[in-house]
Amino acid sequence: MFSKKSLHGRFLPVKTLCLTFDDGPGETTGDGPGPKTIKIAEYLHEQGISATFFMVGKHISKNLYILPELHRLGHIIGNHTYNHLHFPSLFKDGKDILTEITKTSELISQYINNKTIFFRSPYCSWSPEIANKLNKDLNNDYNYIGPFIYEIDARDWKYWDKGLTAELCALNFLETINKTKRGIVLMHDSTADSEHMKMNNLTFETIKILIPKLKEEGYKFARLDEVPLSGIHRIKQFIGL
Ligand SMILES: [Zn+2]
Repeated sequence: MFSKKSLHGRFLPVKTLCLTFDDGPGETTGDGPGPKTIKIAEYLHEQGISATFFMVGKHISKNLYILPELHRLGHIIGNHTYNHLHFPSLFKDGKDILTEITKTSELISQYINNKTIFFRSPYCSWSPEIANKLNKDLNNDYNYIGPFIYEIDARDWKYWDKGLTAELCALNFLETINKTKRGIVLMHDSTADSEHMKMNNLTFETIKILIPKLKEEGYKFARLDEVPLSGIHRIKQFIGL
């Protein structure tokens, strides 16, 4: 079931983070900037961290080979719609929002556990009416959990837009995280709407600086399905896993 209100990570214990990466997948050969979903997934796996990749269907179609690798490495593959459009606008104009979700669900269906699909809406734009419509009109092929918002956003995409360094971006994440000290972290392993930002992406380089610093400062990492939905229930319990 889609929630009327977005799910969040505010009940995570202090110094606990849940990493999420939006708008991928993508791959770039060589050492230059650009999307590097598999390298991010491998590095996090080496670090003992399971992240969630909220993927855009139009990017999955061109990079299908990435999904089994991420699944094998123990990461969660989530649904971030097919075309990354603004859902409230589509809904207001009476356009099809169902297919935006089901097309991506079909693409990721082999790489999810227990028919459960974690969902984040593009731009985190949502309304209770959208939840009602989806819950009424979608068949029960999958158990949808979401939409998920985030507590920590250091606007990594602005760094890629301006061609700034991974060091500066990592520093901004560190400062932002230390203000909140807990929650779901939003990063981007690619960009859905801008080729320029996508090709300047340095998220892999950023996390290689950021993760060791966070560990030094005593931060721990939770999977998205371990995030407490309230003071008591964790998502795993909530969905009966
Ligand atoms: Zn997005």
